[in-house]
Amino acid sequence: MLDVRIEKGLVAEVRSSLPENGATVVDCTGLVVAPALVDLHTHLREPGREDAETIESGSRAGALGGYGALCAMANTTPVADSAAVVEQVFNIGRAVGLVDVFPVGAITVDLEGEKLAEIGEMHASKAQVNFFSDDGKCVQDSGLMRRALEYAKAFDAIIANHAEDRGLAEGGSMNEGEVSGILGIPGVPDEAEELIIARDLALTKLTGSRLHVPHVSTAGSVELIRVAKRAGVRVTAEVTPHHLSLTDTLVASFDPVFKVAPPLRTRADIEVLSAGLADGTIDCVATDHAPHAQEDKEKEFDKAPPGMLGLETALAVLITELVVPGRLTVSELVDRMSTAPARIRGLDGHGGPVAAGAPGTLVVFDLEARWVVEPARLASLSDNTPFAGRELQGKVVHTMLRGKFTVRDGEVVHGQG
Ligand SMILES: [Zn+2]
Repeated sequence: MLDVRIEKGLVAEVRSSLPENGATVVDCTGLVVAPALVDLHTHLREPGREDAETIESGSRAGALGGYGALCAMANTTPVADSAAVVEQVFNIGRAVGLVDVFPVGAITVDLEGEKLAEIGEMHASKAQVNFFSDDGKCVQDSGLMRRALEYAKAFDAIIANHAEDRGLAEGGSMNEGEVSGILGIPGVPDEAEELIIARDLALTKLTGSRLHVPHVSTAGSVELIRVAKRAGVRVTAEVTPHHLSLTDTLVASFDPVFKVAPPLRTRADIEVLSAGLADGTIDCVATDHAPHAQEDKEKEFDKAPPGMLGLETALAVLITELVVPGRLTVSELVDRMSTAPARIRGLDGHGGPVAAGAPGTLVVFDLEARWVVEPARLASLSDNTPFAGRELQGKVVHTMLRGKFTVRDGEVVHGQG
């Protein structure tokens, strides 16, 4: 059992039985102390849809979920396709101060997939954007995708393309397979994702640039990434907690809370995704936290927008589904949720290790505590969690950002410390 001393925002010492010396003592006996989590894929909805989420409410949700950094996706209104919008998001995140908010820049103007956005200006801005995505939409044009990769390579930035072939996905609102056949809901085949990933991997090899594959959902996608990595392609990938834990059979309820893009797949896919995360083929876990206002989400299944909440349940879902059954160790969990995503995006000050001289940006969690997800008690302004009513194991107790508590004993500490 080790003690951690934090001074002036930094970890000053880690060793057994540190003397108190007038310091504030927080008893973490039996708890795990780790670098705070990092999410490469969060939708904060501000600017434009502050009824669904704001940078502040999303930051609260993030801190409660154990996060120290959130990467805010670009599909806001207006779209984050210019230096002005990414700086606005960055500044609001800093002013809220509960997590570091790193804006993601759009690849194309207005996410329209026609013309490259101001990638260079966004990179040169105060927000120093090095990660670009039209997430929610897929860059369909292969020539444009090649140019995006080439352009981003100039400053070693990463292109993250939401992989979904438009023609194949058109009209589908769940996984195409046995369950969609029974329910009579048009489906999206695995190939809609795999064709785009295969193309993007080929273009990444061609350009020598860096690709990040968001929300990998099929067994075939994992295999494509595995082969490309072996061949030296500069690719990283993420998987969401919901794609690791929920299957398309849940759609039988016709509850739009289970609608997400890419769709929930099958138990066989979950097996391969979990193994891919454990062996490092999939580098990290990202939430794809996608809040939707009630009036938008509560439509018929085929008309509802895709997306689910994720920030406040991610750690517990991973502990429940992968750590408890012995598929992932606690140190692998910390790597996949903190160290690896921080490394991919090059976020200094995040991702640990918890050692002398490192920033005091930490999460303290209880591996044993069990709790039931109650949507009304979540900090998010929206309540579209697919885990409502589910009992999960593992709970965030404290979160710290540069030596200050953002969450203490499970409650947000705002502007105090
Ligand atoms: Zn997406």
